[in-house]
Amino acid sequence: MKPSFPDYKLRCGWNALLPSREPAPALATDINSDVAIIGAGYTGIAIAKRWQSHHPNQSVVLIDSSEIGEGNPGRNSGFLLETALAEDADAANLDRMRRGNAMIAETLQNMLQDITDSGDSVDITRTGTYRAAASDIGARSIARYEAFLKAADLPYEKLTSGDLKQRIGSSYFQEGLYSPHCYLAQPAQLIRALFSTVPDTASCFENTPALKIETRGGRWQITTPRGSIQCDKLFLANNAFAKSLGIGESQLVAMYTYAGLTPALPESLYSQLGSDSNWGLLPTHRLGSTLRRTVDQRLLIRSSHDYEREGSASLIRDSLTRKMHARFPQLKGVQLESAWGGAVGFTYNGGLVWGEEQPGLFVSAGCNGGGTVKGTLLGRLLADLAAGEEVPDVTDLFGKASWMPPEPIRALGFHITAQLEQWGGRAEM
Ligand SMILES: Cc1cc2nc3c(=O)[nH]c(=O)nc-3n(C[C@H](O)[C@H](O)[C@H](O)COP(=O)(O)OP(=O)(O)OC[C@H]3O[C@@H](n4cnc5c(N)ncnc54)[C@H](O)[C@@H]3O)c2cc1C
Repeated sequence: MKPSFPDYKLRCGWNALLPSREPAPALATDINSDVAIIGAGYTGIAIAKRWQSHHPNQSVVLIDSSEIGEGNPGRNSGFLLETALAEDADAANLDRMRRGNAMIAETLQNMLQDITDSGDSVDITRTGTYRAAASDIGARSIARYEAFLKAADLPYEKLTSGDLKQRIGSSYFQEGLYSPHCYLAQPAQLIRALFSTVPDTASCFENTPALKIETRGGRWQITTPRGSIQCDKLFLANNAFAKSLGIGESQLVAMYTYAGLTPALPESLYSQLGSDSNWGLLPTHRLGSTLRRTVDQRLLIRSSHDYEREGSASLIRDSLTRKMHARFPQLKGVQLESAWGGAVGFTYNGGLVWGEEQPGLFVSAGCNGGGTVKGTLLGRLLADLAAGEEVPDVTDLFGKASWMPPEPIRALGFHITAQLEQWGGRAEM
C-alpha cells in the first residue's frame, strides 16, 4: 500500500544549509477544532492565514507530516514565477492567462510582504529567468513561448548560443530567451519565514501525518499516529498525497523529481560561469532539467523523474552529476554536496483538484511542478470559498484535472509516454 505522506530518504539540501530549528510538537492527544488543515506548505499556510482573517475567533489546527523546511515545500528549485507558464497564444487563452497572471503577480507581492513581516532574512531576488533549447524540440517550444509573450505584450529578450555562453557560462544550448518575470529564493528559508507568519491562534503540529480521514457524527475526523482531530471543516493541502487519503485517486499521481547542489565554488571556477552571478534557467521540455546559480556561488541542477516512488540515492546523484557536467564541463572535478527528491502532485492535463469535494471537505491539489506562488493563491481562494465569499472561476482559470485510468494501466501509460518523450527530447533531459 502507498504511504499517506512523504517520507524521504534523502535530506533536503537547502534546509541543510540553514541553522537547525525547533519544530512544533507532534500531536499526542485527541483534540477538537473548528477547522483543520492537512499540509503546512504554500497552500496550507495560505489557507490558515486567510481563514483566520475571515474568522479570527475560530480554532484552526495545521498539521504536517514533516518539519518546516525539511519537507516538500523546502525541496523545490526556488523559482517564483510572476506569470504562469503558457505556450498557447490564441485570444481566448490570452485573456484567461492575463487574468490568472494578474492574480499570481499580486500573490507574489503579498508573499514578499509576508517575508518582510516575518522579520526573517530570506535570500530572494527578482532575477528573471532563462529558458534555453539544446535541440530542435526545445527550439520549437521556445518559439511557441515567444509567440505567447509577444501576443501578451510581455517583455523578453532573444538570446543566441553565444549570449548564453557569455551570461551563464554554458555552451550546451543553441538558443534561448530571457524574461524578467521571476524571483529566485532559497526555498527552505522561504517556507520557514511564511510558516512563522501563521497567527499564533492557530495550533501547529509538525511530524504529524494524517493517516486517515473520515466523517463521524457529521464532523470530520483525522487520525494521526498518536492523536486525532475532530473538526467541522477540513482542508486537504497535501498535494500529491491527497489521493492517499482517498481524494482525487483517479486524477492525481505523485511524481518524484530530484535536485542537487554543489558546494560553494571557488572563484577559479565560478569566474568561468558567465557574467550573471545569480540566475535561473527553466527547461523547454516538461521532463527537462532546471539550472540555477545561487548567490553563494553554488550550482543547482534539478532533473529526472520517478513514478510514485523516490529513486535510489546513488542513481539520483549519478544522473544529476552527469547532466551538470554535460552542461558545464568546466565543473568536471566538482561533485554534488547534496542531492534530494521531492514529490509533485501531477495530473494528466495539468489541471487542478480544487474545491469542496464533499460537504465540509475542501481540497487544493495537483501543483504540476509550479505551485509555490500558485499554491499560495489557490489556498487563499479555497479559504474564501469555504467562508462563503465570492471567488473567481478557478477551474476556468487554471483547469480541472482530467481522469486517469486505474493501476496498473496508469503506470504502464506513464512509463511508455515518459520513455517516448525522453527519447525524443533527450538533449533537453
Ligand atoms: C525538486 C523540485 C523542484 C521544484 N521546483 C519548483 C520551482 O522552482 N518553483 C515552483 O513553483 N515549484 C517547484 N516545485 C514544485 C513545488 O515544490 C510545489 O508546487 C509546491 O511545493 C506546492 O505547494 P503545496 O503547499 O501545494 O504542496 P507541498 O509543498 O507538497 O506541501 C504539502 C505539505 O503536506 C505535507 N503532507 C503530505 N501528506 C501529508 C499527510 N498525510 N499528513 C500531514 N501532512 C502531509 C507535506 O509534508 C508538505 O509539507 C518543485 C518540486 C520539486 C520536488
